[in-house]
Amino acid sequence: MPCRIWAIWVNCEGMQPSHTLRRLGAALWVTGLALMLTGGDVAADAPADLARRAGLHVFEGRHLTLVTDRPLRADDGLQELPQVFDQAFATWCRHYGLDPEQHASWRAFGCLMVDRERFRAAGLLPVDGMVPDFENGFCAAERFWLMDQSNPDYRRHLLLHEGVHAFTLTLRAADAPPWYTEGIAEYLATHRLERDGDSASRFVSMPMPRRRADVEQLGRIERLRQLSDAGQAPRLGDVFETAPQAHRALGAYAASWAAVTFLAGHPAYRTAFVATERQPLDRDFTARLRATAGWNEDAASRDFAAFVADIDYGYDFARMAIDWSAGQPLAAAKQVTIAADRGWQNTGSSLAQGQACSFAASGRALVGQAPAGRLESSPDGITLHWYRGRPVGRLLVAQWVEPEDGGRPAFKVLAEGVSGTITAATSGPLYLKINESPGELAGNGGAFSVLLK
Ligand SMILES: [Zn+2]
Repeated sequence: MPCRIWAIWVNCEGMQPSHTLRRLGAALWVTGLALMLTGGDVAADAPADLARRAGLHVFEGRHLTLVTDRPLRADDGLQELPQVFDQAFATWCRHYGLDPEQHASWRAFGCLMVDRERFRAAGLLPVDGMVPDFENGFCAAERFWLMDQSNPDYRRHLLLHEGVHAFTLTLRAADAPPWYTEGIAEYLATHRLERDGDSASRFVSMPMPRRRADVEQLGRIERLRQLSDAGQAPRLGDVFETAPQAHRALGAYAASWAAVTFLAGHPAYRTAFVATERQPLDRDFTARLRATAGWNEDAASRDFAAFVADIDYGYDFARMAIDWSAGQPLAAAKQVTIAADRGWQNTGSSLAQGQACSFAASGRALVGQAPAGRLESSPDGITLHWYRGRPVGRLLVAQWVEPEDGGRPAFKVLAEGVSGTITAATSGPLYLKINESPGELAGNGGAFSVLLK
């Protein structure tokens, strides 16, 4: 339900106080907020006491006080949210190289609201517009507010998303560009909840979700696919320039999450990204990333485009990394080996635009397991499983094509199957791979031998 997904993402505005408020500085703003909430008396009751007095439910964890007016129901998971939050806190500390013990006293205060007027009446939500009229979530320093969600997985995700904002605002004094602010909140909030028998749930960080069922209603991968299909896939340079107000739409969240996930996951950019994250998370974050030794914006943009074009659950950055080297002109017959457990593989041979090339493939490759046993494929693929409109295991022959009309660059499949002849769509190397989800490559094995001439 696109509308539902869309609506969920409107107005996080987690780090975007108005321009005037930003100039006042986050600390001053939060002080002002506290004064407002307490009627000017900073020594007034603690917010948890205000909540209890107003008849709201209060759940305490080590790092989170959660207040809600949501009626309690069996198995709604509300009681376990502070514990999940505490586990996520440890993950966030690890991500930023912080020692959790040194921040053992860090606490956030979150309001999970059905009726925001109850929170205003209780003195837990400002009344005069100091907090923007957010639709789903808002964060100010260690305080955050979120509207209740019908889906427990999505409610938990949104709570953690706001929690990441609280974490980075207070422990990292974050004031980074919007793509990073929202992208890292999505990256660090994405998780799967595992249950060990009858015991409590366990937070497992999963920035690139493995299964759709783990991240119900997020819709980011699907949205990126839609944008790609419409020729509107986000470009890295555009994501870096995302305006704060753009984060009212799922597409902007998806693109920001994709950029952070790409930079943190791709072997060519991970080191630069981590090094940049260990420096101040300020307005110069993007410029500092671009200034890291060896940063190549063209290569990064191309790798990001290739990632977005093939994005799927469980995307395996290491196995999908692409060798972009130019290769040698194909002047004589050449035998290449195409591994079944990798994405696009550079044949080392380049073609001139319009040049013809024939290929003939042989061999069998392992493409996963079925109840009956190992699934083996010839270069024609197997008819049992299909992926993106083609049989899994089928040999694909392509070139990376960068349209001159502003269209999105992508691998253009020129031929497929056991043999055929292609005409080069552009001047550049020839790439081959077997048809398979980027999340399933690790389970594959073997290779095809392909004769090019
Ligand atoms: Zn946010």
